[in-house]
Amino acid sequence: MYELNYDLQICEQCETCDCLVNCQYLDFDLKSAKIEKQNILMGRDSKVLDECVTCYACEEYCPNDNHPFYLIVERQEEKGILPAPAPITKQQIIMMQPRGTITPAQVRPPVINMCYFPMLTGCIRGKLYEGASYIVGSDIFCNVMWLHFAKNSIIRERLPRMIDNIWSHYLRDSGVNELVCFHDECFGTFTQLATAFGIDVPFKSIHLFEYLSKKLDALQDQIQPVNAKVAYQRPCSNRLVPETQHWVDNIFQRIGIERVEREYDRENALCCGQVFRAHQRDELADDVQRRNLDDMQQAGANYCVFNCPACFFTLAEAVSERGIFPILMSDLCQLAFEKGT
Ligand code: SF4
Ligand code: SF4
Repeated sequence: MYELNYDLQICEQCETCDCLVNCQYLDFDLKSAKIEKQNILMGRDSKVLDECVTCYACEEYCPNDNHPFYLIVERQEEKGILPAPAPITKQQIIMMQPRGTITPAQVRPPVINMCYFPMLTGCIRGKLYEGASYIVGSDIFCNVMWLHFAKNSIIRERLPRMIDNIWSHYLRDSGVNELVCFHDECFGTFTQLATAFGIDVPFKSIHLFEYLSKKLDALQDQIQPVNAKVAYQRPCSNRLVPETQHWVDNIFQRIGIERVEREYDRENALCCGQVFRAHQRDELADDVQRRNLDDMQQAGANYCVFNCPACFFTLAEAVSERGIFPILMSDLCQLAFEKGT
């Protein structure tokens, strides 16, 4: 049930092994990458299974959409290789479990999916979200985070139930079939991961960036340019849906933002470091955060914009200490309407 859709033959014929050759955290030339890839395909031990930092990026690097990272997680779980210590993994599984407290409610479009971030529902305000409903809580949590803990089994167990909760408690009986995903993680789950695992999603998902871009177009004559230099912290889950990247520039262009040129942006983005700390790889987390922040500062950014709440909570303080203002993408767009009010 819910088997990973993976074509071994595509990998057998792959000449480039981009999934491993391009990895920013493991150092492989083409020859060693092919050896390790073969080990993973055959279910043998591989240093990739021990050392992968779970950045999700190989999902983007594979030119054949063959889900190399999901296969790594499958093999880790089969072999009992836990990237995080077992007590942390166990605690997280308990902490993040559905509470079963959801009750049906009528919603009206646009319906914004706030995932399991009740502390951010204040973002849904003003002209950008006029008339919107939001849904939030443990019972609609996308559960994709278990990729960081070698626990595809938890995704298989919980995700179908979450999807059904969203559909049968909110959307279906309200006559709504579209959901705007505030978090990349939910959009990636519903549009990419669910398909990879053969899990049906009965509604259409819209990425927050697409929603914001279209709202900004509709409200064009009310925009006051923000005039800021911004570094964008791309989240790991955006690696699942790189086709949404263009919306970032689209939004910046509409509200008068300069995206600073820097080394660790776009395909070369660095993880915020939170997951490395959960894995107790503190030295790696320190190094990655230092390089990332140095890069933002040297590029002259005065804002750092986040779309992932977890990245925001992880880096906000450190970014502020560098004299850079941390802000969520949604709130950055709000500035174009709230300036001077
Ligand atoms: S996962 Fe993709 S990039 Fe990696 S070996 Fe297979 S086809 Fe090539
Ligand atoms: S998930 Fe990231 S660290 Fe792991 S193999 Fe893929 S690219 Fe490398």
